[in-house]
Order: sequence, then structure tokens, then C-alpha cells
Amino acid sequence: MEYNVGIIKGDCIGPEIVDEAMKVLDKVAEKFGHVFHYEQLLLGGASIDEYGVPLTDDTLKKAREKDAVLMGSIGGDTTTSPWYKLPADKRPEAGLLAIRKGLGLFANLRPAVLYEELKQACPLRDSIIGDGFDLMVMRELTGGLYFGERKTVTENGIRKAYDSLAYDENEIRRITIKGFETAMKRRKKVTSVDKANVLDSSRLWRKVVEEVAKDYPEVTLEHMLVDNCAMQLVRNPKQFDVILTENMFGDILSDEASMVTGSIGMLSSASMGEGKFGLYEPSHGSAPDIAGMNKANPIATILSAAMMLRYSFDLDQEADAVEAAVKEVLKQGLRTGDIMSEGKELIGTKEMGDAIAACI
Ligand code: NAD
Repeated sequence: MEYNVGIIKGDCIGPEIVDEAMKVLDKVAEKFGHVFHYEQLLLGGASIDEYGVPLTDDTLKKAREKDAVLMGSIGGDTTTSPWYKLPADKRPEAGLLAIRKGLGLFANLRPAVLYEELKQACPLRDSIIGDGFDLMVMRELTGGLYFGERKTVTENGIRKAYDSLAYDENEIRRITIKGFETAMKRRKKVTSVDKANVLDSSRLWRKVVEEVAKDYPEVTLEHMLVDNCAMQLVRNPKQFDVILTENMFGDILSDEASMVTGSIGMLSSASMGEGKFGLYEPSHGSAPDIAGMNKANPIATILSAAMMLRYSFDLDQEADAVEAAVKEVLKQGLRTGDIMSEGKELIGTKEMGDAIAACI
């Protein structure tokens, strides 16, 4: 099959890590008989340097025309880079927010995978993690409290602030469908997280999730209150497959889930819109402190490329091959600096990409 992929290399370590992900994709193409047509697009600091703005209309238009976009990280050193002397709406991060909005991305997928080989990075006890865990937080991205009406008033000399949390059933239904579709590609369990004992928006959330669940009889659905979920993530993360939740709960839970894996250089992510289109990027930033040194861990970006294969192209076997290759190099004892431990072999960004590509 042939696929059109937009490539946003980004800033600082961005080009280094995206090059390694493309190396792995090229190996997948060769091995499984696909063709990936790449087009480089500029975003963030690189776009400011070239065009004076962090995102151009042309970049957005081209990104929309692709089957998917793979991105490194954008931004620079926020204290020394001239990009941060610009007004807030002209800085690198403004481009990131604008492209997510412009592409209509409403679902954010963040896997939290703890590999047995990297157990020492996990702050949880051995008896809790066992041979590792693998869960996915599916967060609604464009509704809820962060997008509701807000105001601050003074009433009788007392300052008072309001934020409103609203969801309509269509917003809930489309993210729920993504959650169940994702579970169908995994271990077929959805934990829908809400605060239905208090919030009306959560009670509607629960109703709509139950309606959608009827179309997925193979998937086990459970409901969990958000406070319990925050606790269960550190007590027994193995119980989760897909955690489906609204914007603010997902913001907090996805950070908690990824941080219990302990390794920032391993965390992939995806943001998806209607249909199969997605923007795939590592969860970490552009790491200006190690840029250009061949020190960055490319695995988060490589695993993001694997998510692209699975969720945008339905190439499950190919995605499995990439994930298995990552596990294999970890088993071989190869490590970049961020995941290094005693007795393992320290290698650079390029060598990590080579080793993973060689295992496919
Ligand atoms: P960061 O994630 O870039 O770095 C935090 C620490 O983790 C640093 O010590 C860095 O060296 C290390 N690190 C990060 N990724 C690594 C990797 N792949 N391999 C090895 N080590 C890695 O966060 P920061 O320093 O707060 O932000 C730096 C820049 O990145 C800022 O401009 C920020 O706005 C931007 N940023 C971009 C995104 C994005 O593109 N989505 C996300 C977060 C931050």
C-alpha cells in the first residue's frame, strides 16, 4: 500500500529523533512491501526562522491532505532562544496549538507502557509492577472545562471566578467510539472514568458511553470514578487497558499514568480527528540541553510511528513488528543515556535507530 505522510521534524532534538523514526518506517516499507511518501512541513521555531510565523496556512493545508503526520518536538530553550522574545501568539508553541485545532484533533491517545527491562525507572514496588504494564489513556481534547465559558466578577467586594464544564452527546459519542475502536485493537477492555456521583456532565457521559458500548459486544466496559482511578493507577496499573475520559480528568490521569513508567524518552502519543487521520508525536519536549549531540532517545518517536501504522493505516502486523523490535533492543541491553543503568551498553540516537531497524 502507499501512504502520504507529513513530516514535521521540529526543533532542537526533533530532526535527530524523526530521522530515526523514518529509518524504521523505511525498513517496515521494505520488509512489508509498502511505500511511504514523505513531505517535510515546517512548524514551530523552524517555521519562525523561515516564514516569521510558527504555522503557515500552506503548512496546515498540506498537513490536512496527508494520511497522517509524524512530528518530532518543537520549541527551544525558553530563557535563551530569540523565539521566546516574540509575542505569545508568535512563539513555537502557538503553532502547535494552532495545528492541533486546525486539523480538528479531538482525541488524545497516550500509552503508558512499562517494559520489564526498564523496571528500575518505575517508582512503584516490584510486587505491583510484576512483568510490566501496558495501558492507554484516551482523553477528550476539545471540550469540557478548558473550553467552557469563564468569567471573574466582584460581588459585594468579593472576587469570584466561574468556569463551566459542558459536553454535548455528540462530543461524548465520537470520543467514545475512538475509545472502543482502540480497545478492539488491544485487550478489549474500556474503563470509562467520570465523576458521575457529582457532575451532570459525567452522568450524560456515562449514558452515552453505555449506548455506544452496545455496538461493541466483545469489549468489556467498566465505569470508575476519577478519584478512584487516580488511586488505582498507582495501586494496580495492570488492571487497565483503555482509560476513556474527558478533557481535564484525562489531562491529569495521562500525566500520572506516563510518569509511573518513569522514562520520558519512551513515551509516544497520538492526536486523532474524524476518520483515520492522526498527528503522532513523542510526549516529551525538544530537549535543547542535548540537541545535536546524538544523545536523545528516539524510541518515543519510533513508537509514535508505530501508533501511526496501527491507528491511521490499520497496519497492525507492521506496528507489532516495530514494538517487538523496541523490546528486542532493550533485551539486548542497548540504552540511550536517559534509560541507562549499570551493566548496559550506552549508545547514541543514530545507533538506537539502527539497532531497532535491524530487528525488523
Ligand atoms: P523536555 O521534555 O524537552 O526536557 C526535559 C528533560 O528531559 C531534559 O533534561 C531533556 O534532556 C530530557 N529529555 C526529553 N526528551 C528526551 C529524549 N528523547 N531523550 C533523552 N532525554 C530527553 O522539556 P522542557 O525542557 O521543559 O522543554 C524544552 C522545550 O520543549 C520547550 O521549548 C518546550 O516548550 C518544548 N516542549 C514541546 C513539546 C512538544 O513539542 N509537544 C512538549 C513539551 C515541551
